[in-house]
Amino acid sequence: MKKNKVNSLYIHIPFCESICDYCDFTKLQYFRIFAEPYLNKLKEELSSLVENKELETIYVGGGTPTSLEDDLFLELLETIKPYSHSVKEYTFECNPESLSLKKIKLLKDYGINRISIGVESTDDKVLKSINRHHTFNDVKKAINLLRENGISNINLDLILGLPNVTENMLKKDIKNILSLNPTHISCYSLTVHEHTVFSINEICPPTEEFAYSAYKMINEILCKNGYVHYEVSNWCKPNYQSKHNLTYWRNEQYYGAGLGASGYIEVIRYKNTTNLKEYLLGNNKKEEEIVGKKDLEEYQIMLNLRTNEGIDLDHFINIFNKDIYSSHKKVIDDYINQGYLKIENNHLLATFDGMMILDKITLDLFE
Ligand code: SF4
Repeated sequence: MKKNKVNSLYIHIPFCESICDYCDFTKLQYFRIFAEPYLNKLKEELSSLVENKELETIYVGGGTPTSLEDDLFLELLETIKPYSHSVKEYTFECNPESLSLKKIKLLKDYGINRISIGVESTDDKVLKSINRHHTFNDVKKAINLLRENGISNINLDLILGLPNVTENMLKKDIKNILSLNPTHISCYSLTVHEHTVFSINEICPPTEEFAYSAYKMINEILCKNGYVHYEVSNWCKPNYQSKHNLTYWRNEQYYGAGLGASGYIEVIRYKNTTNLKEYLLGNNKKEEEIVGKKDLEEYQIMLNLRTNEGIDLDHFINIFNKDIYSSHKKVIDDYINQGYLKIENNHLLATFDGMMILDKITLDLFE
């Protein structure tokens, strides 16, 4: 039922120079004494995990991979090198303040051709208030340096719904981001997670009304400026979709290595431990879920509907021997009539409004 070949690899580097007030990712304050053994264990994990050396995408995220000191950063690049010779898209996540010229030159030398920068806000006061240690000027400088050194495929991340950020301020953020002419923009709505500073300080996430109105405003501005809204929270210039992330949304398999990383191989979705001590002892795996036929179908619906590719109805029949349109005709027709879903070229797609209520739509399609 599944393709055997795994073409994508995610690697997690959990270290950060400082911890942002909203952050719920698997992350730790950077200390060399942790980073050195971590890289050794990562090397071991990769060699036992990655069977296909002809990978198409690699994504190194975190944490902040660029928080490693130069010699350890080089060691990381060397550790990944055996898996990177055939990749078409090789992404590193970076924070503007740790992206030095030396690191950029190394990234270029080792074939990295896409950079994702955590910008989050373009207002320096807001950045300071959430414990981010860079300014908007640092972002501009980092982008110039990347371009001067031949890396021009750049994603910028923004957060929607930070405290005290009005829709007008967000509009200014978008205009500032546009002035940098990135190939890709991600904009995620703030979630307040337990045990974060935001949660302790009782910060409220944005209301549904604010998030809807802000996403609509962002979408209008970005589409007017030639960007394609290709996933709920992602826009890109034509042909600059994240190939790696499309793997997830197409429900295809991927390797995941490193602390807290997730992977999907054959019929197993797994998640690594988030406990550094356990990871360093070699006890990587924490959870495994066997994906049965029904689960696979649900993942296919839930993930495919996130993108402007939607569900390929013929492909769905080929995989599951089931015509989802016939089996859910009433539900789908109702959503089509209300303007939340549409069918184009035999693909079932969510409209912009549909993407804003995907949880509800997917639940109805699971029944
Ligand atoms: S830099 Fe990224 S991973 Fe690190 S604390 Fe901030 S948001 Fe979390």
